[in-house]
Amino acid sequence: MITFEGVEKVYESGGQKVHALNGIDLHVDKGEIYGVIGFSGAGKSTLIRCVNFLEKPTAGKVFVGGRDLMSLSKAEIRAVKRKIGMVFQHFNLLNSKTIFANVAEPLALVKTPKAEIKQKVTELLHFVGDEATSALDPQTTGDILKLLKRVNEQYNITILLITHEMNVAKEICDKVAVIEKGRIIESGSVFDVFSAPETETAKSFVKSAIDHEIPESIQKLNVKHLYQLQFVGESSGKPFLSQVAKRFDVEVNILHGTITELQGIPFGSMTVELQGEDGEIGRSLEYIRRENIRIREV
Ligand code: ADP
Repeated sequence: MITFEGVEKVYESGGQKVHALNGIDLHVDKGEIYGVIGFSGAGKSTLIRCVNFLEKPTAGKVFVGGRDLMSLSKAEIRAVKRKIGMVFQHFNLLNSKTIFANVAEPLALVKTPKAEIKQKVTELLHFVGDEATSALDPQTTGDILKLLKRVNEQYNITILLITHEMNVAKEICDKVAVIEKGRIIESGSVFDVFSAPETETAKSFVKSAIDHEIPESIQKLNVKHLYQLQFVGESSGKPFLSQVAKRFDVEVNILHGTITELQGIPFGSMTVELQGEDGEIGRSLEYIRRENIRIREV
């Protein structure tokens, strides 16, 4: 479990003050995968570095496993740090050593008995399989995400992940927060943030993973009754558009759409034009609404 309470971080650089974090409140439950998304310079690295005190907050509190890091002695912080793994984008492995020796190194540093090291490293390498040995191309990025998910599920390990790639967040996170200028401007379950982003920044990030935007060419058509329909879970599988056309005296013209999966739930967004009398269109919309489909007039 990780909790940030009113965390601020001010860097002093060349006589200038840089407010990297401006009052962060964030709670990550035990066993959760929490993604923090933001543009370069938003404060992501500073935030994550506060979790293991690589950076000390200027104000506010950081709790790890329920313990306030500020209140701990140096020795206690060292003990907490040992339970936190940082995976960097560019990790520094020792070239001259084997994979086994690289994994064993941190355990050797804290003077773990040799037999125990051997058992632990063998177990971990077996768990990882071959995945972590290959080069990092997009396919292996996917493999690493799967590996992180397995680590999370099998060992109930809490993961705080920073990224500017929405597809990464979409793939494995339970919840996400969007950070901008050191503030969290939007947060929630992956499903909620991806299906209905509120801020412009969240919208622009979500766009790279799910395109809610209606293409300009369609907007230019100047269609009278244009609606964006969002359907979730069961409703994604229903032939509701053909039912609308059968039940009501309307024509349904599909202009744009995507169907994807968020946290294992199908999610679809479709832009349709309804043609017909206003009354019939009103009744069709009533019917669509009753099917738990979200409607947005465009
Ligand atoms: P991100 O990881 O989202 O790119 P950072 O946390 O690295 O953002 O940076 C947030 C802000 O703090 C930026 O304006 C950056 O220039 C500044 N910053 C980060 N580290 C330092 C530092 N050690 N000294 C001075 N300014 C820093």
